[in-house]
Amino acid sequence: MQKRYLLAPGPTQIPPEVLLKMAEPILHHRNPMFEEIVAEVREDLKWLFGTKNEVLFFASSGTGAMEGAVTNMLSPNDKAIVVRSGKFGDRWANICKAYGIQTVEINVPWGDEIDPALVEKALKENPDTKAVYTHATETSTGVRYPVREIATIVKNYPNTICVIDGITGVGVFELPMDEWGIDILVAGSQKAFMLPPGLAFAGVSDKAWAMNKTSKMPRFYFNWTKELTNLQKNQTNFTPAISLIVGLRESLRMMKEEGLEKIYKRAEILARATREGAIALGLKPFAKNPSPAVTAIYAPEGIDGQAIYKSLWKKYGVTGAGGQDHLKGKIFRIATLGYADKYDVVTAMAALEFTLKDLGHKFKMGSGVGRALEVLQEL
Ligand SMILES: *Cc1c(COP(=O)(O)O)cnc(C)c1O
Repeated sequence: MQKRYLLAPGPTQIPPEVLLKMAEPILHHRNPMFEEIVAEVREDLKWLFGTKNEVLFFASSGTGAMEGAVTNMLSPNDKAIVVRSGKFGDRWANICKAYGIQTVEINVPWGDEIDPALVEKALKENPDTKAVYTHATETSTGVRYPVREIATIVKNYPNTICVIDGITGVGVFELPMDEWGIDILVAGSQKAFMLPPGLAFAGVSDKAWAMNKTSKMPRFYFNWTKELTNLQKNQTNFTPAISLIVGLRESLRMMKEEGLEKIYKRAEILARATREGAIALGLKPFAKNPSPAVTAIYAPEGIDGQAIYKSLWKKYGVTGAGGQDHLKGKIFRIATLGYADKYDVVTAMAALEFTLKDLGHKFKMGSGVGRALEVLQEL
């Protein structure tokens, strides 16, 4: 018998309360009972995103909202600044390229901190930039980005919007859209929302809606104007992911009951316990400014990071993640966002200790778990 524990940076664990709601007989989406659910979800999403504006949602993975944040704002040949320091920064660049956008790239070594002054410099050199596309967390490296600082810089440019891929940020740490001046905040259901994959979200500011009016990019499925008009009537443009939205109502209720402050504190402590546990085992965290969503850890000298990730998963039942692209084999990742608590960290740390012993790393058994427990006492 082997029990399985999911600690990947998406999909993440789902609470039984939410699973049960999604198992209920399906409602018809043009039925008033479903409209009531949409009405509640609309309000709660505004609360979670910290905005007075509507938060749109789509039946797609998170990337659908990323793509929409390009096609609903820009016109062919427009200029955009993209921060690249990992797999998901590459995704912004690739989406822009697919739609004929000129990209100004800020290339930062993977794992390094992002200096907001680089964004300021790029904007000064390219005052015709229409959008800055960046992240809350670069999931491939576990780096947290200085969103507030970047948004504050972009705010001074009346014809430029600040777009944040918050797919591993929303529900993990503070990202109040209106207060910070984030123009588009993208999220996905399979991360901190405690839901299966299949829903993408986008909060949209007044400044972004104004830009939308001038955008000449072709679009069909991800038509944000049509989606907004429908949403204001508690409807969606196409058949929504009904069961996921029923689950979303429940997960948002759970989040409201816990409260944002406690959610963010829990995320911060879980990630810190993971990091410090790893350090106590003689390992080194990868990210310079680590995110509370996902912890990237260097494999020790002479041990393959993929071997660690695979052993955690195959032999010890803990699904984390390996490294991507050139980090494959160099790092492994353990995510503690969403429906994770202190015992998840203890489990992951115990599995990591077993794995490292198998692979010949030298350390005192229990030192990682012990250190994690000390940090988790703060919870
Ligand atoms: C998971 C993730 C994505 C979304 O990918 P999808 O597979 O399209 O849901 C995008 N950006 C970041 C930062 C992510 O962590």
